[in-house]
Amino acid sequence: MKQWVDKLKKERTLNREEFRQLLTHCDTETLRYINEQARKVSLRQFGNKIYIRGLIEVSNCCRNNCYYCGIRKGNPKVERYRLSTRQILDCCRQGYATGFRTFVLQGGEDPALTDERIEKTVAAIRESYPDCAITLSLGERSREAYERFFRAGANRYLLRHETYDETHYGQLHPAEMSLARRLRCLHDLKEIGFQTGTGIMVGSPGQTTEHLLQDIGFIEKLRPEMIGIGPFLSHHDTPFAECTNGTMEQTLLLLSIFRLMHPPALIPSTTALATLAANGREQGILAGANVVMPNLSPPEERKKYELYNDKASLGAESAEGLAMLRKQLQSIGYEISTERGDFITEKQLNT
Ligand code: SF4
Repeated sequence: MKQWVDKLKKERTLNREEFRQLLTHCDTETLRYINEQARKVSLRQFGNKIYIRGLIEVSNCCRNNCYYCGIRKGNPKVERYRLSTRQILDCCRQGYATGFRTFVLQGGEDPALTDERIEKTVAAIRESYPDCAITLSLGERSREAYERFFRAGANRYLLRHETYDETHYGQLHPAEMSLARRLRCLHDLKEIGFQTGTGIMVGSPGQTTEHLLQDIGFIEKLRPEMIGIGPFLSHHDTPFAECTNGTMEQTLLLLSIFRLMHPPALIPSTTALATLAANGREQGILAGANVVMPNLSPPEERKKYELYNDKASLGAESAEGLAMLRKQLQSIGYEISTERGDFITEKQLNT
């Protein structure tokens, strides 16, 4: 298997059969090797600096019913909330004082968060924090809406495609949602000029090796600036309550594959990884991730934004826990970077 890892590192790609073998025959030794190679590539690209992003969960209201999601519309047990623009600006103020230079506004597809309201919120953040990056993760919107957000000062947009296979997409989402629309959004975002992020849940119900091969092919073609890879984790109030969680090993394998395929990509070590294992965040970094996203949301709302069971939001997952995070990263030889941490190409890096 090591020959495929070396080839991937050198050529940034493999043919479908080689990728298939890597996905299906990766033993402990190969996993250790690919994680190590991906870590070397990440160190070459970013040094031992880990970018931090302040995550603000702006609303847990959503018009959608994705089968895997704890805050889906059909879950009556969720206590819903929506932050006001003032509350969001408060989170930014606290985050800025602690050193955050990227704010990530994440939320469900909340009809009350109109395009106009988001545009105004983005403009207000942009005015107060001209030196910060603004990332949005607010789901599918019209191209016109994305253009408005971009003009108001947003720089980045996260929208996971979840799966590139139409049938599998239909297993994860109700009929009114469409993969074609999701992909259209991603292409719009790219064309508008957003640093665009996409990604998948590893081990989601019904996912096969063929699906993963399609996801790899799609990401290879799209060349997103950010790649979000986390394990599927079940939530007790969803149709997938009884489904098995994704594994650490397969998530780390895919994370390393994407790092080797696309060295300059910004890849977070996700909260889902930190939820799956106590040292999950560190394992993600040692497999090639270079971003962490501590939670800046008001502490009283954090528990209500439960996408999956037992989501980590305290300790080093929280903005208050930055000292703990710093210590954890130091223990594996890394440091927090308080730079904005925009995407830069390898060519820009070398000039
Ligand atoms: S995954 Fe996103 S779009 Fe789907 S139900 Fe959850 S918050 Fe809504």
